[in-house]
Amino acid sequence: MLVVGSSAAGLVAATTGKRVYPDKTFTVVTLQPKTLIPCGIPYVFGSVGSTDKDILPAEKMFETSGIKIIYDEVTDVNRKEKIAVLKSGTEISYTKLILATGSEPIKPAWLPGTDLKHVFTVPKNKVYLDEMHAELKQCKKIITIGAGFIGVEISDELNKAGKEVILVEKLPNILGMAFDEDIAVKALELLTQRGVNVKTGHGVKAIQGKEKVESVVLENGEILEADAVILSMGYKPNIHLAEKMGLPINSQGFIAVDEYMRTEDDSILAVGDCAEKRDFITRKPSPVMLASTACAEARIAGMNLFKLSAIKTFSGTISIFSTALGNTGFGVAGLTENVARKEGFDIVTGVFNGIDRHPGTLSDTHTQFVKLIVGKESGVILGGEVYGGLSVGELTNTIGIIIQNRMSINSLLTAQIGTHPLLTASPAGYPLMKAAESASSQIMFMQHA
Ligand SMILES: Cc1cc2nc3c(=O)[nH]c(=O)nc-3n(C[C@H](O)[C@H](O)[C@H](O)COP(=O)(O)OP(=O)(O)OC[C@H]3O[C@@H](n4cnc5c(N)ncnc54)[C@H](O)[C@@H]3O)c2cc1C
Repeated sequence: MLVVGSSAAGLVAATTGKRVYPDKTFTVVTLQPKTLIPCGIPYVFGSVGSTDKDILPAEKMFETSGIKIIYDEVTDVNRKEKIAVLKSGTEISYTKLILATGSEPIKPAWLPGTDLKHVFTVPKNKVYLDEMHAELKQCKKIITIGAGFIGVEISDELNKAGKEVILVEKLPNILGMAFDEDIAVKALELLTQRGVNVKTGHGVKAIQGKEKVESVVLENGEILEADAVILSMGYKPNIHLAEKMGLPINSQGFIAVDEYMRTEDDSILAVGDCAEKRDFITRKPSPVMLASTACAEARIAGMNLFKLSAIKTFSGTISIFSTALGNTGFGVAGLTENVARKEGFDIVTGVFNGIDRHPGTLSDTHTQFVKLIVGKESGVILGGEVYGGLSVGELTNTIGIIIQNRMSINSLLTAQIGTHPLLTASPAGYPLMKAAESASSQIMFMQHA
């Protein structure tokens, strides 16, 4: 068994494969030692403080699992002979090959000035990020372009570290691709209160400077001074190796795979950010790249390596995201109301604004807002959005499991939940259940109208 890549997908594919097939020999080839915890990268610039404190314990996990690791680059693969060629010249033969080559940040070709000094992207590369972190320490005015999760998290962390941060976003809201407006507006208010200067509804036209960046020009002609610019304008699958190997690539630029994560070549699988995704509900190709999805795909690939199990297929990306600004968490799973309506789903939404502890007189209570997106005829829950205290991360995961199991409003309303004053909302005012009741009442009302 040969696995290319040691981040979320490569690590989980190799360790799962070895657990399920202990008699097989596993080797992982990856570019560099000290793979970073990718989701922790924004916090390197503030709360965590250093990439050395954001290392995935991959080496240790490979060692304890009996998996060999080689630091090198796989530059080519002879599919006929089943031999991988490394940059060092070493050749490794394989029975099965898993590609977990991940993704790379996008540096838009249409934007002038991206090659100036102090214009950064956010790759999952320790050496690059260490240099970037050192350079940013010397900078005062930082402009982040793109207000997806990464742009928002990095802006908030740099603001915490005492920088003057401007976050520029073309959409009317931050996190606007992930959340409906009612929730995205809350995140925008909060980030602004925390001190980040957020400029939504503004596209960028150019980055200017002589050798080093000096300013960013917006589409409306406004010029913003900058000592550094961070491009957080999305990621693209890393398919360099797959293309060289002649593997089919789908229309969105991902390696084409089936529900067992197999490419067209039965002995080659692809998992994680480089592999094709399909939305769990719409069944359309999905561009969403998440570590959680990568790990789910990797587990499927690892389990199905040498014998296919019809019940262990990857049934589609549910897009479960969460993030936090201070002690307020934001989470979303499945379809938002906006996307559901655009896709033509006939839906109702149920919302409830409650609190996350009981009684509400406890000192650390926090608002807990839940919105459910529900199919009108079927009552099936298609999506959910939440914001509130830090417990919303796990609440978002609960909604993800509800969606994956195609639970209806009725099955949710008859489900049992455990509660405790210090840990959860009250059983009588549990926001998830109250949002379900709100959706259910609307469905009943429509049926009787
Ligand atoms: C700043 C940031 C924050 C994020 N936050 C979150 C979050 O909070 N939650 C979430 O779910 N997701 C988050 N993500 C997304 C998540 O990081 C990715 O989905 C995840 O890293 C995908 O893992 P992967 O293993 O598929 O790919 P990658 O992490 O991109 O890893 C690819 C691996 O392949 C290796 N490699 C590539 N080519 C070769 C080659 N030819 N030879 C040898 N090795 C090779 C690389 O060295 C690397 O080990 C975040 C991403 C970023 C950048």
